[in-house]
Amino acid sequence: MSDVFYVHSAKTAQHGLMICAACSKPIETGQYRVKDTPDAYITHHRACLPLDPMWERMDAEKAEQIRNMEMMLADAEAFRKRWDTEALDELIGELQEYLAQRTKGDAA
Ligand SMILES: [Zn+2]
Repeated sequence: MSDVFYVHSAKTAQHGLMICAACSKPIETGQYRVKDTPDAYITHHRACLPLDPMWERMDAEKAEQIRNMEMMLADAEAFRKRWDTEALDELIGELQEYLAQRTKGDAA
C-alpha cells in the first residue's frame, strides 16, 4: 500500500532523496508530490506533474485561507481602533506575519 501526499514547500519539508522521478533533478524549492512506498519516497516536482488535479485544490485552499486571515485581520484592526484597546495587538501581529509569509510565496 502506498500513500500520496502533497507538500507546499521543499524548503520547509523534505522526504527521502528529494530527486524528481520524472526529470531526475533535485527538488529544492516549491511544491512537490510524495508517494510513500514500502521501499522509498517517490517524489515529483509540481511542474513535472502538471495534470494532477490536487494542485488546483491546494491553490484554492491556500487562497481561501489567506482571504479568511485577511478578513480576520481587518475585523481585529477595526475592533482595536473602535475600542482603543491593545488586547488585540498580539493577534494582529500574528496575522500580519502569517500573511506576509504566505503571500510572499515559495515558487517552484
Ligand atoms: Zn521534475
